[in-house]
Amino acid sequence: MALTFKFKDSWNRRSFLGTLGAAFASLAGSRKLSAAPANGTVATPQPDCNRIASGLGSTGNVYEELGVTTVINGQGTMTTLGGSLGRPEVETIMTQAMRNFVSIPELEAAAGKRISQMLKLPDGYTAIVTSGAAGAIQSGLAGILTRDNEKFIRQLPDLTGMKTEVIIQKSHRNPFDHQLRGTGAKLVEIESRDDLKKAIGPQTAMMHFTNFANSAGQIKVDEWQKLAAAASIPSFIDAAADTPPVSHLWDYANMGYDLIAFSGGKAMRGPQCSGLLIGKADLVHFALLNNSPYEDVLGRGQKVGKEEIVGMVKALELYLAEDHDALNAEWQRRLDNISTKITAIKGVSTKMTMPEIANHVPSMQITWDQKLVAISPGDAAHTLRSGKPSIVLAHGEDGPGLSMTSFMLQPGEDDIIADHLVALFRAHAA
Ligand SMILES: *Cc1c(COP(=O)(O)O)cnc(C)c1O
Repeated sequence: MALTFKFKDSWNRRSFLGTLGAAFASLAGSRKLSAAPANGTVATPQPDCNRIASGLGSTGNVYEELGVTTVINGQGTMTTLGGSLGRPEVETIMTQAMRNFVSIPELEAAAGKRISQMLKLPDGYTAIVTSGAAGAIQSGLAGILTRDNEKFIRQLPDLTGMKTEVIIQKSHRNPFDHQLRGTGAKLVEIESRDDLKKAIGPQTAMMHFTNFANSAGQIKVDEWQKLAAAASIPSFIDAAADTPPVSHLWDYANMGYDLIAFSGGKAMRGPQCSGLLIGKADLVHFALLNNSPYEDVLGRGQKVGKEEIVGMVKALELYLAEDHDALNAEWQRRLDNISTKITAIKGVSTKMTMPEIANHVPSMQITWDQKLVAISPGDAAHTLRSGKPSIVLAHGEDGPGLSMTSFMLQPGEDDIIADHLVALFRAHAA
């Protein structure tokens, strides 16, 4: 197998900082050049990715051509709906990335340096772009288990010779811990500090924290890291959906977590198949060794392309530059707009909420008195979903009635949702 363990030196963050200014300057320079060549030469025309001469995509709406319904997404950054919509700059940079061959490990190292610089991560931290937060969870643990031992890397999920256990609070179990189990590791559930003390042993490879479950567990986010560090056990935090606030991107590294996972294709609006594994440089390096592009490795199925790597870095840059207060205000305005229109109908009420952690964005519960508006929340959601246009709102998950967020809506879609809800409620009004 063609594993290379040599690029660790290029992993050094300091050597990169000196060249950063130059890299930015050349980037700005080349952009200018392609817009208006200073030397009088004609720039090579590039294909317009919005225009395809014939066949699939030639109408500009590939989904319609394939007969697949596009939806108005009032639910949120759901992977089953395609996550999020990328910014034009991310589209463009991914197209740029398609035009050259590069060494993927070298590109990952360079992306990691750029990311740690942008996030001002503590010394000794770096990052790689993964296929998503789930990919970051699996390869992060795989790296902790194998380190740079080639035999171990090939051997996973057979853990012979390696540590075998990951400690997790019982209330932190969730569908994404399948990625932990995928390495062959066994999850050891604990509840109290005392349980934890008893559970820690020579077989303990890692202590895992699910950030959205912070309030559910007896041991909170900062204490979990401290207890792990005191026992010299690597700590991992799954913070997949935990931006906004933007500060979460560096908070957990500053707290001391060894590895941190974020989704790229959720609120950051990176490529849908992207995520960040941020952490201590050696562990991030070991994670990459367990990932594509290497071949006889557990993570080969979690391929990350040059397009996703570059797209993720650009999305992060744009996300950091965003006016987050203004965005929040706009998301709230959309919900207020819908609320004003639908609460004009007798029996319909709304309540504004905001999850404390994970999907920390303005959210709205829509409930109604079924004696006055005779339709069940399930039927209402189904009618909206099968209407034209198709509208997706959540129901049954976070409380009674329907619930929605507005951060994945396109301009004007708040009015469309309001109109369709009004028509639906009127049609079933007593
Ligand atoms: C979405 C999510 C994941 C998976 O993230 P991807 O980027 O889709 O792989 C993992 N953990 C939590 C808590 C999530 O919300």
